Amino acid sequence: MSQDFDVIVIGGGPAGYPCAIRAAQNKLKVACIDEWQNRDGSYAFGGTCLNAGCIPSKALLESTELFHRAQTEFAAHGITVGAVQMDVAAMQARKAKIVKGSTMGILALFKSAGVTALQGHGKLLKGNRVEFIGRDGAKQELIAKHVVLASGSTPMALPSVPFDNDRVVDSWGALEFAAVPKKLGVIGAGVIGLELGSVWRRLGAEVVVLEALDTFLPMADAAVAKEALRHFQKQGLDIRLGAKVTGCEKSKDGVLLQFADAKGNQSVVVEKVVVAIGRRPYTAELLGEGAGVELDARGFIKVDHDCRTGAANVWAIGDVVRGPMLAHKGKEEGVVVADLIAGKVGEVNYDLIPSVIYTAPEIAWVGKTEEQVKQAGGAYKVGTFPFLASGRARAMEAANGFCKIVADKDSDEILGVHIIGPMAGELIAEAVLAMEYSASTEDLQRTMHAHPTLSEAMHEAALNADKLAIDIPNR
Ligand code: FAD
Ligand code: AMP
Repeated sequence: MSQDFDVIVIGGGPAGYPCAIRAAQNKLKVACIDEWQNRDGSYAFGGTCLNAGCIPSKALLESTELFHRAQTEFAAHGITVGAVQMDVAAMQARKAKIVKGSTMGILALFKSAGVTALQGHGKLLKGNRVEFIGRDGAKQELIAKHVVLASGSTPMALPSVPFDNDRVVDSWGALEFAAVPKKLGVIGAGVIGLELGSVWRRLGAEVVVLEALDTFLPMADAAVAKEALRHFQKQGLDIRLGAKVTGCEKSKDGVLLQFADAKGNQSVVVEKVVVAIGRRPYTAELLGEGAGVELDARGFIKVDHDCRTGAANVWAIGDVVRGPMLAHKGKEEGVVVADLIAGKVGEVNYDLIPSVIYTAPEIAWVGKTEEQVKQAGGAYKVGTFPFLASGRARAMEAANGFCKIVADKDSDEILGVHIIGPMAGELIAEAVLAMEYSASTEDLQRTMHAHPTLSEAMHEAALNADKLAIDIPNR
């Protein structure tokens, strides 16, 4: 292998691998180094997202949602089935097959794009040299004109409830349970905690979610968060807000979780615990002496708006830099950096990063919440449309939630779109595109939406912003 490259990307997750592919599309000579190892010791590209995050969680959410719907909705359709059973091993095998297919797919993409895939550890040394230790332990020094750091993140530990990879697990562990725990404690009511809690709740686990903050989903529009909490509680998720976990005691019966809430010190005994209190940037053994890359106080690699670090021709992208820890944010950064390296133009629009929570109902938003717009002080208007009034949602037996649009009262520009309801994560793409083009509610009002589709909710919400909705009384 020649040791000189135009670009070396360290990290082959959803930030790193798209960066490598785009750099190769830009006719650069590229290598991507990744050290991800699965529990069976096998190496796999794709990082957290494909191996232990986005993809396996969505596979389990799909299986368990179908299981739940078979139990609760089939009768309404007139479908009679016997007792519905879940074979957890088969569900996990399906998930593993999806993950394997996706991660192998990256190797195929690298091959077709001409990216050199290197499995092992990469470390940035002084002067754009990279130390690579391969799977066989052999060490070699590579040189690149540009190095892109995409080393991702790792779950945050809670010192008072240490991981033991058996009864106290991180999100990866909670995706791998071989049986449904009788009672599951989830620490943290963030996106990951809610998705994993939903998976095991749907399969019959009693789930208690302990969240230190008093506010539920503080990053979401308050109306959406309120509606979500109502649904999750109805589904049996026991969500305790203002409950800060302070410690645990393990016994043969399970784990006693200690927490403090407004009433004082409390405890709950559970069979398994998922610690889902957030993730931290991962830079272990990444930066050699004099590499010239700085970390901020929270351990993120310091970068400018265009993902340049302080070291010449060294860039950093994805979860290891500031901004929301989301796969699509990392992917956009990777593609833009590869274009900037090639002398092209590109910029990530950090104001329009969509957020999706893949629960049922699904939750998705982009732009500013009503609370943020109100706080900014300008005049604004709101249009909403409930899925109860959507023919398609009713036909799907999924007429929950609503679509809400917040727009500037004077210019009519859309400032934020917030959806809770069926396929919210798919519907939000229209809002992202509209806002990318600085659309007004009138633009959406004058855009024809097929009938009957869920997307009509967006159309009607835009109309409702001017009290012109057709399918609901305008208020
Ligand atoms: P990572 O995916 O963490 O990849 C980094 C890679 O670099 C890893 O393979 C790592 O082994 C490798 N690496 C690190 N250091 C080195 C080194 N020195 N040498 C060689 N290799 C190295 N995001 C979404 O957008 N949608 C979702 O639905 C979603 N669901 C999630 C569900 C769960 C349970 C979790 C945990 C996360 C989820 N995320 C989701 C977040 C998403 O997984 C991350 O934002 C994304 O993986 C970040 O991509 P990345 O490439 O920056 O880092
Ligand atoms: P996120 O950062 O979105 O993944 O969410 C993690 C959640 O965990 C946040 O809402 C935190 O408030 C919550 N959290 C952090 N530490 C604790 C703790 N000790 N007990 C309960 N919740 C916690």
